[in-house]
Amino acid sequence: MIYLDYASTTPVEECIINKISEELRDNFGNPSSKHYYGQKAKDAIEKARCEIALTIGALPEEIYFTSGATESNNLILKAFDCDCDLACSSIEHKSILEPIKNYNYNLLNVNNDCLVDLNYLEDLLNDKHLNLVSSIFINNETGVISPIEEIFSLCKEYNDNIITHTDATQAFGKIPIDVKEMNIDSLSLSGHKIYSLKGCGALYLSNEIDKSDINSFIEGGSQENGLRSGTQNVIGIIALGEAARIAREKMNSDWQKAMWLEDILYSDLSLIDCIHFNGCLENKCPWILNVSFEGCKNNEIISAISDEFALSKSSACASEEDKASHVLEAMGLEPELCLGAIRISWGRQTTESQIRKLGARLRALVDEFKNY
Ligand code: PMP
Repeated sequence: MIYLDYASTTPVEECIINKISEELRDNFGNPSSKHYYGQKAKDAIEKARCEIALTIGALPEEIYFTSGATESNNLILKAFDCDCDLACSSIEHKSILEPIKNYNYNLLNVNNDCLVDLNYLEDLLNDKHLNLVSSIFINNETGVISPIEEIFSLCKEYNDNIITHTDATQAFGKIPIDVKEMNIDSLSLSGHKIYSLKGCGALYLSNEIDKSDINSFIEGGSQENGLRSGTQNVIGIIALGEAARIAREKMNSDWQKAMWLEDILYSDLSLIDCIHFNGCLENKCPWILNVSFEGCKNNEIISAISDEFALSKSSACASEEDKASHVLEAMGLEPELCLGAIRISWGRQTTESQIRKLGARLRALVDEFKNY
């Protein structure tokens, strides 16, 4: 079976498995305990906090560990009252769109390339006193990279008090991020997209933000500076810290390899005359490709090749739904192409031969569908 769904989750890196098996045995203390075992666990958490901070140009005390990006997104968005004025892009992940569904929010349009319309944002900034603007860093369905620095600098130009939030789940550890240079006040990240464990992530919150304004929805022992109570997931955090360190080390080589594989896949798939590449190819990360085949339904394609390939049509969190992706709809893709879209995503363990096999299989399959 060939795994080509890295955007939904990544396999755990072998050296992380080795590290955590040792830590599971030796580092079992509760990090809130004052004795030797507690302090050993606490030291490991603080080391991981430094690794995360270093990866995005933040200070360690600006990192709060959570159960993943869904919780981090909820934490920042639910800090606001429903009648606050928020704006977010129409291509956000469900973990942004669901928590604000009862809020008074403005959707930032995107164009056909999956990029936020900056003129529309500027009009909105002129008209309203926004409290928060949220824009996804790398879209999880199309792989398009948002011009985060440009979007947030524009926001700050109009109102220095706007909180700028980015869901960087698909970007963290994969492309350079400097929260200070990019005007990012708040950022969500997750371990399981960077070869670490599921159920562990973090929220970066700038020291400039007044934490007394943030309603913590998990109350208890005041861990994570009172922002997220509950005994920390020590092993998940150690793994996340290690994954972040490795990600920084491999950022360049991972990118080069992904680009090489993308070139191969792109050349192969371009031979299919009814193919559509969705999203701006020039502004994309090289490990996600979203394609539609005219006249073909995504469910049929995915199930026809499921004996050999594991891939999805969009976000894993929406894969149960039999409807078109809200991201592709927001880009203005025709309904037929929305229903035909599949997402192919690859990573460190993917080989050239796996990518070539997919290209060949899709070419044969689309031919078969057309002649049917
Ligand atoms: N945001 C984006 C862009 C994602 O891709 C995902 C994972 N599918 C999430 C948020 C949710 O992350 P987690 O699984 O850590 O809650």
